[in-house]
Amino acid sequence: MSRDPRRSRTEFNKLHKRLRRQVGQAVVDYDMIRDGERIMVCLSGGKDSYAMLDILQNLQRSAPVSFELIAVHMDQKQPGYPPEILPAYLDKQNIEYHILEKDTYSVVKSVIPEGKTTCGLCSRLRRGTLYGFAESIGASRIALGHHRDDIVETLFLNMFFGGTLKAMPPKLLSDDGKNVVIRPMAYCKEADLARYAEEMQFPIIPCNLCGSQDNLQRQAIKKMLVDWERQYPGRTETIFKAIGNVSPSQLADRDLFDFGSLNAGEPQAPSDTATALSRITAVNL
Ligand code: SF4
Repeated sequence: MSRDPRRSRTEFNKLHKRLRRQVGQAVVDYDMIRDGERIMVCLSGGKDSYAMLDILQNLQRSAPVSFELIAVHMDQKQPGYPPEILPAYLDKQNIEYHILEKDTYSVVKSVIPEGKTTCGLCSRLRRGTLYGFAESIGASRIALGHHRDDIVETLFLNMFFGGTLKAMPPKLLSDDGKNVVIRPMAYCKEADLARYAEEMQFPIIPCNLCGSQDNLQRQAIKKMLVDWERQYPGRTETIFKAIGNVSPSQLADRDLFDFGSLNAGEPQAPSDTATALSRITAVNL
């Protein structure tokens, strides 16, 4: 941000408005929040989840629908974890909150060999606890702080290492059908969130207190995207748009499109949209 205080204030206001607009748009586009919703906001203590809580609280004050926000954080008992930081911050926010204490750190350390990344198991254990807790407090939505760049990185991780074309959806029903997960910041850029967090001086709690490093494959993808963005500004946004603009007939998934029905001189195969919709209907039944 600029060193001139007036210019810097204007830049911050613009950034704030942009983030609010993007969150509001994602909420509307994916029907994330309805009147009376009770939303459990997962706070990791990182920049993204602080920003999510702050922007949702902001929207709550002006939204045409009324909804509740409950902040939930997990103290996973990593060595050096500062237990006073989040309660001190949340007390000032005038919001219902819960800190769940669960020693997943010891579990992860006892299962994963030394030197291997522990984030996969750690996140699964955290997710399990949070989903269960959401049910116990009657939360109708679980809000996660993933942003546009997380979504695009996941797309490439799945493509490069999993052989599947999938990312992180803005809205998702959990496997057991008990929880609806929403990602209100699906349209927000990570760089914007980092700037916002810095300006807001959120009291960040580092995730790597446990000594683990973020997944090396994810780091490599992140670097690839940053390099692309430098060379071709706007590329990440274009890739993100592509996730919402899929043509099943131009891919090769036989479950998504009825390729068998394509025969010259015969009635046309159903359109991409019709095929995709019939599949969704079948799944819903
Ligand atoms: S860095 Fe440590 S605490 Fe954070 S997700 Fe990975 S294993 Fe868990």
